[in-house]
Amino acid sequence: MKASCQEIFCAVANSLGLSRMLRHRRRKDILILMYHGVVEDNAPFKRWTHLPASRFAWQMEWLRRHYRVLPLQRVLAAMQTGSTLPDNTAVVTFDDGLQNTYTRAFPTLKRLGIPATVFLTTAYVGTGKLPTSSRIFLALRSSRLRRLDLRDHGLKDFQFDTMAQRDAVADEVRSYAKNIAFETKLALLNDLEARLEVDPARYPEYADEFRMMSWQQVKLMQQSGLINFGAHGSRHEILSRLPHDVMRSEIVDSCEEVRRQLGIEHVTFAYPNGRRQDFPPEAKQMLQEASASCGLSAIGGLCSTGDDVFELKRVGVGNNVGRSRFAAMCSGLGVR
Ligand SMILES: [Zn+2]
Repeated sequence: MKASCQEIFCAVANSLGLSRMLRHRRRKDILILMYHGVVEDNAPFKRWTHLPASRFAWQMEWLRRHYRVLPLQRVLAAMQTGSTLPDNTAVVTFDDGLQNTYTRAFPTLKRLGIPATVFLTTAYVGTGKLPTSSRIFLALRSSRLRRLDLRDHGLKDFQFDTMAQRDAVADEVRSYAKNIAFETKLALLNDLEARLEVDPARYPEYADEFRMMSWQQVKLMQQSGLINFGAHGSRHEILSRLPHDVMRSEIVDSCEEVRRQLGIEHVTFAYPNGRRQDFPPEAKQMLQEASASCGLSAIGGLCSTGDDVFELKRVGVGNNVGRSRFAAMCSGLGVR
């Protein structure tokens, strides 16, 4: 269903009191929201991961009115000890560690006193480097060319003109690149940037919306007492695609880096990409060996107190989620 149709369906469901009824019926369940980035309302691009700032602010205000927003650690402790949580408990999380989490999301969270956990892709934090998926997106948008031949990489001879067509090609290359080895992906990226004749040093200013925070920004957020940090893999590689030794280092290195930089004993973890097929049972085992305290997935749904803390469900909020749909999704309606 298209986002606009879903919004209408949810508006009708809300007007009939369905979301409110579900919220009450599922009041003992735990809502863990998953965000990524927050951008200016008039940002010159649209990505599912980048929510307009006013939409994010509204969602947080609404959440504070209808839920009891608690730190992830408090909820984990209750899940492990069996102690009760307030009705309609919610947790706010951000994946990746984009710098706009600091510049745009943090001021809103501070203003409203909402705690949150940010999962860091540690190899990128403080480097200014663009993650691989963003490099594909920005290269296609920045090139003056209208053709990209990637047949030798198992892809197509792409032709494009408008920004929408360029974004569609980026999405296709990006989903292909998710499933190949890191070194093969780097070779693909280098060829892609060379063939598109782009200079990443001359990308438009909005490329910064895809860069990660500095450790100083991370520490400033931590010092506020409101924001906690966890690990999200070193390089955001999909764990199930990796040989065991590489999977282990993706997990252990990122947990160690968060522990070393921030002095945290039990690090929380969110699986990169996070669908059921993206983290094998071995990854859960490795997390426990690395003394991580949980594993958050991107599998849609609310959590119950007895759930496996190494496979926690979340409700992912994309840039296209309006008010009606947000209220419905928080109650578990239409979340997959
Ligand atoms: Zn991620």
